[in-house]
Amino acid sequence: MSDNNTVSRRKFLTATAVAGAGALLAGCNQSPTASNQPSQENNTPKTVINWQMVTTWPPGFPILQTGAERFAKMVGEMSDGALEIEVFAGGELVPALGSFDAVSNGTAQASSSAAYYWAGTVPAGQFFTSVPFGFTYSQMMAWIYGGGGLELWHETYEPFGAIAFPMLTTGVQMGGWFNKEINSVEDLRGLKMRIPGLGGKVMAKAGVDTVVLPGAEIFTAMQTGTIDACEWVGPYHDQILGFPEIAKYYYHPGWHEPGPVTELNLNKDAWDKLPKELQLIVQASATDATNWSFAQFETENYKALAALKEESPEVEIRRFPDEVLAELQRLTPVVFDEESENNAQFAKVRAAYDSYSTGLANWSEISLLSYLNSIE
Ligand code: CA
Repeated sequence: MSDNNTVSRRKFLTATAVAGAGALLAGCNQSPTASNQPSQENNTPKTVINWQMVTTWPPGFPILQTGAERFAKMVGEMSDGALEIEVFAGGELVPALGSFDAVSNGTAQASSSAAYYWAGTVPAGQFFTSVPFGFTYSQMMAWIYGGGGLELWHETYEPFGAIAFPMLTTGVQMGGWFNKEINSVEDLRGLKMRIPGLGGKVMAKAGVDTVVLPGAEIFTAMQTGTIDACEWVGPYHDQILGFPEIAKYYYHPGWHEPGPVTELNLNKDAWDKLPKELQLIVQASATDATNWSFAQFETENYKALAALKEESPEVEIRRFPDEVLAELQRLTPVVFDEESENNAQFAKVRAAYDSYSTGLANWSEISLLSYLNSIE
């Protein structure tokens, strides 16, 4: 681990810690307003709509927070100032995980976050982020925009006064950092791992003692041996948190998060009040931010992987044994069955997801998979 990386981790952790102070300042911000300001080109009044957007990302968090800021800037520029969006990182206006409620109750008009964070409130929302052994980013886009996923997403959020669109992706994640070798299913039993969401539930079924910790707390938990393993994102973000310093094995693939797509969540009333041209600008800017984020993640991850190999040769990069992946895949529908019994919308979205997945798999087998297998 280089000094430079250590400094980056400290900066990230410090930024996360001071988010609470930001909340005090943010409390002084004005409520969203529509005001008439004279246009510079002519003297006819121009209506300006001001929105507040909260995020679940730490201040300055690369690609995700900066991607949300990129989106807001593009909306302002494309609309020539007709829609101005002020962005607040997690904790600056509302707590990071309070952003869904903030959008529902109109405290904020928009949020940049991930639908699977609201699993306790909207279990079906998890399908619109990522599920174990589910779609990659490009497959998610196909389902959402071509297979009825977006309509189901809107239906799922409608009772909460919200409407969401895809915005930002991490690409395929890594399986995580381990301080114990995983050579068999037996090695999972009793392991203590930080892994949230449905992936965590699948791991729990396999005998793992799972915990959920915010990013800023993982390093210490690993260092002190409170946990034996953790997952976060991929090489780029993982090295910022310093994981090469505190774990020996870096496993792939990210079976639990093969292509998370995060969300632009909007207050439905605020969305409905937007003129059509501004709605189109919001959607186009979100799509642009998503493409941009995928490009950033792919580029930064490959560079960070190369740096990891060079600077931390003691870290062993390994693939999970086939036996382990097969067991986790066997347990995934068991978890989905339990979730479906508890929530009708989860069952409905799951059925649609599975149906699209089956159809797509037949095609992918002789297109993408066949192609990838052709490369030596
Ligand atoms: Ca993750």
